Amino acid sequence: MRIAIEITYLISSTLFIFGIKFLGSPKTARKGNLYAAVGMFLAIAATLFDQQVLTFQWIIIGSIIGSLIGIVLALKTPMTGMPQMVGMLNGFGGGASTLVALSEYFKKNPNYPVEMNLPFNLPVNESIAIILSLLIGGVTFTGSMIAFGKLQGIVTGKVVKYPLQHPLNALLVLFVLVAGAYVVINPSMMNIVILITIVSLVLGVLLVLPIGGADMPVAISLLNSYSGLAGSTTGFVLGNNELIIAGALVGASGIILTNIMCRAMNRSLMNVVLGGWANAGAATSASTTSPKGDVKSIDAEELAMLLDSVSSVIIVPGYGMAVGQAQHAVRDLVNLLEKKGVKVRFAIHPVAGRMPGHMNVLLAEAQIPYDKLLAMEDINDDFPNTDVVIVIGANDVVNPAARHDKNSPIYGMPILNVDYAKTVIINKRSMNVGYAGIDNELFFYPNALMYFGDSKEAISKLVNEIKNL
Ligand code: NDP
Repeated sequence: MRIAIEITYLISSTLFIFGIKFLGSPKTARKGNLYAAVGMFLAIAATLFDQQVLTFQWIIIGSIIGSLIGIVLALKTPMTGMPQMVGMLNGFGGGASTLVALSEYFKKNPNYPVEMNLPFNLPVNESIAIILSLLIGGVTFTGSMIAFGKLQGIVTGKVVKYPLQHPLNALLVLFVLVAGAYVVINPSMMNIVILITIVSLVLGVLLVLPIGGADMPVAISLLNSYSGLAGSTTGFVLGNNELIIAGALVGASGIILTNIMCRAMNRSLMNVVLGGWANAGAATSASTTSPKGDVKSIDAEELAMLLDSVSSVIIVPGYGMAVGQAQHAVRDLVNLLEKKGVKVRFAIHPVAGRMPGHMNVLLAEAQIPYDKLLAMEDINDDFPNTDVVIVIGANDVVNPAARHDKNSPIYGMPILNVDYAKTVIINKRSMNVGYAGIDNELFFYPNALMYFGDSKEAISKLVNEIKNL
């Protein structure tokens, strides 16, 4: 039986690895999801056959309640709410690791539930795994809940500074490590184990509270990585190979994604890890000079006429396309332009929208072929040779200040060079700022034309005007 379970674990781990590999490209992402889901199904099934399961009653009750909550959340959460949903799921992973580590600690105490403080032996590797699980799981749980609250607007999204922030956090980490070493030597120190759990939970709050503005998505991705590490250490606590491997995969892929996002947003990983060490607050304390000048706008009819005489168009989608759910109207626009012989492509910024791959998912939903979606590095050189760029609900990712304004909070963030095109049309509802909270000088450029309106309405109107030409 044991061998069958371990072999199933091996197969499921292999499926996870292939799943992650396929998730690396939009073309194979669905297949990747399926592989990973089958892997997870096998892992759960094998674990339920494990002889350690004493009763199925609570497992079934928990699964039903959890599945119902999961289904309702998945159906009700809009695409734009995905980052907070991911944040919450990370938190539950961390919370589960903490609970498992605590219960294993109590289970391994032969004197439980009375005379818990009598000495007993716990192998060093098991006590280290328990302490690490409590630390990482606790930080992940409360940290993710704060991240969820910030993105949901329940907790302030701004940078929160408090006195002695970094020395205090360092002291708490040191406490957990020293107290943890003490528990390794004296495993019966139940009160210290509980204290370690509480301090870890507090640490999660203190570490994520200072993170604000543009750093939040990176923090979510980092917490995702932590949740994997917590799962992996819990795997050591339980002696479960599958959990060790799956946790390590989540931990590693989470940190790789964090790194990619850091580079795309020009954030230093160290700043995020340390809870807004140096540059924190950049997004809220913008001291850039507001761009001035004339803003020219265009209406649907004029835009339709302009597009009648072009040969190349690049569409740059952003968060506003997601808010307006304009992807289907955008597909109609692409079809019409292509019928007229216009070469149409999409330029996708790695952090456009509110989650990695946000734009790809929406455009795929509207059946726009993957080969039209080009990553920033593959299309950025093509803007100077493009007749018209249509920016739909994007703002920060096309803000030229990132290239030259050292005071800008987004300075150094690679952007899509839309201003190098002959004409840039920007569709948004107003002159309002985007996520980073700063004005965009692009709107004042001589080759820029604002096309105001909700993305779906505006693009549908444009489609009708083109049809009427
Ligand atoms: P931005 O947030 O910079 O700008 C979006 C713009 O869309 C706003 O200025 C808004 O202007 C406009 N908008 C909103 N609703 C509509 C609508 N219905 N129709 C038309 N326009 C609309 O978006 P970007 O995609 O350019 O940049 C993403 C930002 O989010 C970056 O700063 C990135 O760092 C950050 N981020 C990215 C994450 C990721 O993983 N992708 C996660 C979290 C944050 P107006 O109100 O005038 O319409």
